[in-house]
Amino acid sequence: MVMLEPKLKEKSWKKEFEQGICEKWKKDEAYAFVDDDKKLFSIDTPPPYVNTPIHIGHAATYSLMDMFARFRRMKGFKVLFPLGLDRNGLPIEMAAEKKFNVSLKDVSRERFIDLCKQVLEESSMASMDSFLRLGISFNSWETGNKTGDVYLTDSDEYRALTQATFIDMWQKGLIYEDERVNNYCPGCKTTIADAEIEYADLPSSLVSINFRVKHSHESIVIATTRPELVCSCSMIIFHPDDERYKHLESKTAVTPLYGKEVPIRPHPYADPTKGTGLMMMCSFGDQADIRFFREQKMQPVVSINQDGRMNRSAGFLEGLLVKEARDKMKEKLKEKGFVVDEKKLTHRTPICERSKHPIEFIHMKEFYLKQLDFIGNIRDISKKINFFSPHSRQILLDWLDSVTLDWAVSRRRYYATEIPLWYCNSCKETIVPQKGNYYKPWKEKPPVEKCKCGSSDFRGEERVLDTWFDSSISPLYIMKYGTKFFENNTPCSLRPQGKEIIRTWLYYTLLRCYLLTGSSIFKDVWINYHILDDKGKKMSKSAGNVIDPHKILERYGAEPFRLWCAVEGNLADSDLKCSFEHIEGAAKTITKLWNVARFISMFEMPDLGLQNVICETDKAIINELAEITDLADDYYMKYDFHSPAARIKNFLWEAFASHYMEIVKPRTYNQDKKFTKEEQLSALFTLHYCLKTLLKLLAPIIPMATYRIYNDLYGGDIHTEEFPKAGKEFLASFTISDLSELNSTIWKAKKDKQLSLKSPIKSLTISNKFFQAEKDMIAAHNTEKIEYGDETEVEL
Ligand SMILES: [Zn+2]
Ligand SMILES: [Zn+2]
Repeated sequence: MVMLEPKLKEKSWKKEFEQGICEKWKKDEAYAFVDDDKKLFSIDTPPPYVNTPIHIGHAATYSLMDMFARFRRMKGFKVLFPLGLDRNGLPIEMAAEKKFNVSLKDVSRERFIDLCKQVLEESSMASMDSFLRLGISFNSWETGNKTGDVYLTDSDEYRALTQATFIDMWQKGLIYEDERVNNYCPGCKTTIADAEIEYADLPSSLVSINFRVKHSHESIVIATTRPELVCSCSMIIFHPDDERYKHLESKTAVTPLYGKEVPIRPHPYADPTKGTGLMMMCSFGDQADIRFFREQKMQPVVSINQDGRMNRSAGFLEGLLVKEARDKMKEKLKEKGFVVDEKKLTHRTPICERSKHPIEFIHMKEFYLKQLDFIGNIRDISKKINFFSPHSRQILLDWLDSVTLDWAVSRRRYYATEIPLWYCNSCKETIVPQKGNYYKPWKEKPPVEKCKCGSSDFRGEERVLDTWFDSSISPLYIMKYGTKFFENNTPCSLRPQGKEIIRTWLYYTLLRCYLLTGSSIFKDVWINYHILDDKGKKMSKSAGNVIDPHKILERYGAEPFRLWCAVEGNLADSDLKCSFEHIEGAAKTITKLWNVARFISMFEMPDLGLQNVICETDKAIINELAEITDLADDYYMKYDFHSPAARIKNFLWEAFASHYMEIVKPRTYNQDKKFTKEEQLSALFTLHYCLKTLLKLLAPIIPMATYRIYNDLYGGDIHTEEFPKAGKEFLASFTISDLSELNSTIWKAKKDKQLSLKSPIKSLTISNKFFQAEKDMIAAHNTEKIEYGDETEVEL
């Protein structure tokens, strides 16, 4: 029964073991999606951009998603857990522009798309390799069209589905074209959606400009940060209660340099405390201007063109970029004596989320997806989805409250999904193709020979779709929208994603899928926060505090990192601070697990069941573990691995290794035959039972170390095992914490006298709740006599 050699041969867990294990999983297609009779758990993972290496946030969040997937497999689900790679849009285009030193407008569309494809081909699959090394159990590592395969958002199949959903929405009247003011990023050279705007405090200057009042000797002063827009000024307003200006009502002002006459009117929108209290209303300095013009039904004077340059309305500023025009205008106003004052200040400015350029507001014809009509429906859906943590739902609800315009979905770029429309050049009829194929109208003929007017002279649409229009159908794509599989398995079980893309990826997905299917596409949504440096600061290249996950993999391997992710905090609740020291700490826990397993592996697991556990100490440890198992099952279900992982770690170090194992060692070896055979077997069974349970509880978190230990000790793949049930709870006369307290008191008494822990005790008085474990106490504490009383007394 006692084995001389531990079954676990190596003295410790080494990071070098990891590669072999994950390569084997890959080769064996261990996690391939099999559509059997099990219930489905589907995870709509965020597709990372293909041309950037993964950062620490990716490493942590995908590791957590993997824990969700592995846990559900052990709970008896078939898990759809595919990897997608985002390859559409601006990041790829910008990489191509940089690499080949070209601008989108300099080369033909065909050529530019080729350059993008070159960037994509050369972009390594480094991120895939990192995910593999992290032990992520994606269904597949090959790109393809089978359920669970790696998908690319620029594949013909994906784009065909994006276009099919466009065609659907077009035919339902949900998409329309309109000419209105749009957010325009001069850096990305395209329209962008409200959801892609951020705000930044940028240095600016507030220029106070003199305007003449017509038929009067009076002049008024207006302070503005956008003097270049004087040419677009259509009205001057003051607050109705502002006594300083009441006498100006229904008078007319004359704009400097341009000499245009504009009405002066009271309007509550003017803030008497800002600037001089007078405001010039221009088309268009900001969103507020846009709303004002709409409300006043005023004709805008558009002075900025689609290329971000001033047009003819701006007179002498024509052809200049907005920023150049601002400087030139100031110079000219100063020269002519119109500037009264200039102050430096910071101005809260809308900027592009991607390129950080200040947004311009430009009149353009674009396609819009109706969203205003459906905000209420999305709000209703959001309330039914389970959010983890629940408070992250509010970020979505707040965004819903702030949506004021329909979603502008057309973009003037190249490397994205084409808008699948053609137009008849003679009767202007729009030609809409059949769903199912991938269309490139800018270079292909329409799917009809002749228009119904008889003409065969067509023009293909040249614009493309917003990349969120693509990524917002990811759950439809992975769940095979339009098939029986989709019908049987929606909603998708889980959308895990970052909090910073709630108003884009989550919102747009809910909206689009609601418009197509009439219901919520997700059952659960898990929102993650960020990984910060050890001082709680955001990691950034400029701050020099970036922790590269590849360094972590090199130094410690994936398992300590994964354990750290689970133990250190709940990423759905708050940011996590990361440092090498913390991960090193997690590595020690894996070493501890290995040592414990190695010790136990010296003994065979007896072929017994819980009914054969007869000793009180064994019952106490099983009870403790049953409680942790319950907790893990409950919390893992809620995507919280933190609370159980912290308990499990503590159980391993303290309850199990320090206290239980120390007490039962004499019974385990039973060299002097002081224990009965049944008592010894009870200990051996309990050791193995606890280890097996512990390994299963940890399997989703540290899949490689648990896989290896389990395989060496018990044979078979732990990841195909069932998640442990809480097990039979025994009526035990004491708990593990009672035992820990007692042990600590006794050990302290010995230590105080500088005696070894094994040194004999003359007489020991302990609580009578330990009566049934008397033999364990005598052997473990090496006492000659044991007595029972209220106070623990140790006579050495
Ligand atoms: Zn931009
Ligand atoms: Zn026609």
